[in-house]
Amino acid sequence: MTATNLLQIDKLSKSFAENQVLKSIDLSVAAGEVVSVIGPSGSGKTTLLRCVNFLEVYDGGSIQIDGREVGYVDTSSRKRRGEVDLAGMRAETGMVFQSFNLFPHLTAEQNVMLGLRRVRKKPLKEAREIAQHWLSRVGLSHKADALPSELSGGQQQRVGIARAVAMDPKILLLDEITSALDPELVNEVLDVVRQLAVDGMTMLMVTHEIAFARDASHRIVFMADGLVSAQGKPDDLMAEVATNERLRNFLSRFS
Ligand code: ADP
Repeated sequence: MTATNLLQIDKLSKSFAENQVLKSIDLSVAAGEVVSVIGPSGSGKTTLLRCVNFLEVYDGGSIQIDGREVGYVDTSSRKRRGEVDLAGMRAETGMVFQSFNLFPHLTAEQNVMLGLRRVRKKPLKEAREIAQHWLSRVGLSHKADALPSELSGGQQQRVGIARAVAMDPKILLLDEITSALDPELVNEVLDVVRQLAVDGMTMLMVTHEIAFARDASHRIVFMADGLVSAQGKPDDLMAEVATNERLRNFLSRFS
């Protein structure tokens, strides 16, 4: 592992009962790098992100964030989830979900402040300032006091992004964050991601937006059947369609 790899995944495996979803995933993300994960539905992309964010416990292999093992439950040992600082680990890997997952009874600002107060233990005033800063960065200062139900899907997702980055994560994980949006709202969310990339945020994102992945990522990883089937700089990966039939079949759906 090189010192600059913020995320280092080696031989990661994960099964749900008999279904081996991740077979042996090797994947790294360097500091400041934006890596997109594409691939057919069911290939294990979401499971991969969930393992990195400790929402799933993996069975084998290793995931290191900035040199620190995320951890897994070895059924032969006594190690259990409760023995690790879950909230602290998750805060290092901000995650944005397809379904926004905002608290409906809290305003936009309160949603962004929650983790800052509870996990980061920030004083009220500082938490509010950080929330206001990030709401402004996603263009939503004027909606700070709005409830999620008073926001469009695109605005809710921008609050979701503000909430994740406000925690100052080492890496931001984005799981198909535009999939639940009406087409006309997709761009306002992708623009925010693009800006974060320009600012040097390290990101690992699962996306169906192939054009966006090509345009905004340093590297694209193509997953198929629980394995990394191909990866490379966007143009190099696209050139692999000549030799990789799975990739060719997958991408043909988008052309
Ligand atoms: P993708 O994101 O590429 O569409 P997923 O990671 O969501 O793929 O799913 C990969 C496979 O794992 C699918 O077969 C799915 O049914 C299965 N799977 C995902 N989560 C669970 C779970 N909690 N329990 C059982 N099977 C699951």
